[in-house]
Amino acid sequence: MRLFLFPIGGRWLLAICCLLVYCGVNPGCAMHKGRNTLPTKQQLVVGQLVVHSDFHLPENHRLIKELTSRRDEISGILDIPTSDESIHVFLFDDEAHFQGFMERAHPEFPGRRAFFVKSDNSLNVYAYWGPRVGDDLRHEVTHGYLHSVVPNLPIWLDEGLAEYFEIKRGKQGLNGAHIYSLSNRLRRSDWQPDLARLETLRDAAELDQLDYAESWLWIHFLLSGGQETQELLQNQMDQLIRFGVADSMADAVAALVPDCEAKLTTHLKQLEGKSNPRNVIRPVSVLGSGGDTDAK
Ligand SMILES: [Zn+2]
Repeated sequence: MRLFLFPIGGRWLLAICCLLVYCGVNPGCAMHKGRNTLPTKQQLVVGQLVVHSDFHLPENHRLIKELTSRRDEISGILDIPTSDESIHVFLFDDEAHFQGFMERAHPEFPGRRAFFVKSDNSLNVYAYWGPRVGDDLRHEVTHGYLHSVVPNLPIWLDEGLAEYFEIKRGKQGLNGAHIYSLSNRLRRSDWQPDLARLETLRDAAELDQLDYAESWLWIHFLLSGGQETQELLQNQMDQLIRFGVADSMADAVAALVPDCEAKLTTHLKQLEGKSNPRNVIRPVSVLGSGGDTDAK
């Protein structure tokens, strides 16, 4: 997912969107025409979420239940409060409807599969009902839960957490595509972890798929490393909530974990052993190319 800032009506609008470029995947996307308005027929209020759709979505749908329970999971793991600020989830019934709306309402946005948009007075998620809707909603709603209580999230932290919490329940945050990509890069010696570099990233245009993967890996490493590393992450969130800024996470990790980069790559190798290759969703750009070129 990527974060974009757009000047709209004299204000800056923050948008975070799925990294997957649907125009690059679906060659017919520019041809989609038809409905271009928000879904409004059903409004389902569940916890902090207000889900708008044009189709019936039962309140006890397992995806909705997972999304609502994830708020407490995120709050508990990161030791952050919850908010009652509504997160509006606009769930389009298909890709064409979603694209029609985005092209009309936000023509300045790049082509993506889902968006989280934060303005001064609203938190909105836009996504469509498709094969990846679970991942998309878990990811974007995580942005919503985080931004409703934590200001000024560094982009690596925002995306690393969203990538971690987009994984469905019971998978311990294991992202097979990221494990696959990072492991291949590591074997080819064309990637080494560098959290200090990730912390310098400010603009969405600076992040590529490898940065998303590395951000996820640092989060997984910190949350899997025991109480002390988890508390580092919790302390980072606490500083952001209380002061709006936080000390360098790279410095904090280096101080607590000697040779942290080497330990991170060891962690990656252990994850590779746990990850079932048959369940890995390979990066889109790999499909048909036979290589390991990361999706952009
Ligand atoms: Zn994202």
